[in-house]
Amino acid sequence: MLEKLGEILRRTTNKITNAIFLDKNLVEAIVRDLQRALIEADVNISLVKEISDRLRKAAFDERVKEIDKKEHLIKILHDELMSILGEYKPLKLEKTQNRIMFLGLYGAGKTTTISKIGNYYAKRGNKVALVGLDVHRPAASEQLKQLAEKNNLAYFIDIKEKDPIKIWEKYEKDLKDYNIILIDTAGRHTLDKELIDEIKVIKRVSQPTESILVITADIGQAAKPLSSQFQEALNMTGVIITRMDSTAKGGGALTACAETKAPVYFIGTGEKVNDLEEFNPSSFLSRLLGMGDLQALIEKIRSVTDEKNQEKLQKQLEEGNLSLEDVVEQVKSMNQLGGFDKIKSMIPGLGSAKIPENMLESQQTKIAKWEHILKSMTKEEKSNPELLKKETSRIARVAKGAGTSTSEIRSLLKQYDLLNDIIKSGSDFDPSKGFSQKQMQKMAKKFGKKIRF
Ligand code: GDP
Ligand code: MG
Repeated sequence: MLEKLGEILRRTTNKITNAIFLDKNLVEAIVRDLQRALIEADVNISLVKEISDRLRKAAFDERVKEIDKKEHLIKILHDELMSILGEYKPLKLEKTQNRIMFLGLYGAGKTTTISKIGNYYAKRGNKVALVGLDVHRPAASEQLKQLAEKNNLAYFIDIKEKDPIKIWEKYEKDLKDYNIILIDTAGRHTLDKELIDEIKVIKRVSQPTESILVITADIGQAAKPLSSQFQEALNMTGVIITRMDSTAKGGGALTACAETKAPVYFIGTGEKVNDLEEFNPSSFLSRLLGMGDLQALIEKIRSVTDEKNQEKLQKQLEEGNLSLEDVVEQVKSMNQLGGFDKIKSMIPGLGSAKIPENMLESQQTKIAKWEHILKSMTKEEKSNPELLKKETSRIARVAKGAGTSTSEIRSLLKQYDLLNDIIKSGSDFDPSKGFSQKQMQKMAKKFGKKIRF
């Protein structure tokens, strides 16, 4: 997701950090790099120009002491990027019933996103129902049904009915039992009068508490006129941007929405049901800058673990007290989330680490081996792996019991150290503020050398 932009931003901050002093040439080179990266991400040219001017000015601000200049410049860069990403306005749920309507053009990702959002809220203890009011394409309700069944979500559709109002009225009574109702509507190639009229009627009968526009990231800056149109015609309350995984133009779409003041609630990052993230500008930027995002990782893990385990896991993550069993559980969750490659951008310091292909492939076999190894350990050893490190005879015993080599046990212990370190260094992270410069440096130093999976 926005890999190129992230790469250049990381290079830019490194350039600033490593500079002996900031001369005009260096600042110009940095500004040029940044401009190229932002324009490639389809960020509006005039925004790019404004940022460049402010960066130049900050670099030569006489009031800032020479020794503080580098930090000052990085802070300005961070603040400027934050300002174009918009404010953090998460989707707020009503205590009573939430009727969330999804709007958008053909193929924007409405139906897919509804199943992702449904899954997201169901996992958090809500009673979710999906309602199919896209009566134009015969396959639309069938698609909604399949996605709902796959994710164990309640759904209400009527494949034969051609009037969306009748479908709504037919199920209105049944829907009282749910606190989150996700309404799928039909798209068009453009926002034409026919679509506006249809949506207006559906809105009148269903009285949505939120109307969310779904757009694809690949339209880039064009998200601005499109969301303005939907805002004017249909009073939409927020946006979800899909396909952030498959285009370089996501930066344009995000900043364009910020310009229209439409809050981006979620972003879609793939076709699978867990490929959805709440959009939080500050943690998004931290990740883009390669500093990882522990909060997003916790959220992701939460979405694939059942409720009972959640509290326990979160506590252990925060305290940094993991047992070997937790470590294996963690790696398993990562696999469920689409593999380590996807998750690594969320772990502080791992963003830019290169991980050999064959290591990713062998994760599954490794997990199986580790689970086997755990069976040969005593309870004490599992909860306090330091014992194993202190007495190598224990390692030999476990290896023999599990029928594997001692190096396999050591690799599990390494994994344990790594996760513990990562979690400890991120535990004073406040997602509303992002990472401080000091935290960033500390983490970069710590993980720069030792990433070996
Ligand atoms: P709708 O016409 O707005 O209901 O769009 P659909 O939900 O049917 O989605 C259209 C296509 O986009 C499908 O093939 C989805 O799998 C795909 N899609 C949706 N969201 C994402 C995403 O975040 N990333 C990727 N790569 N594909 C997506
Ligand atoms: Mg659809």
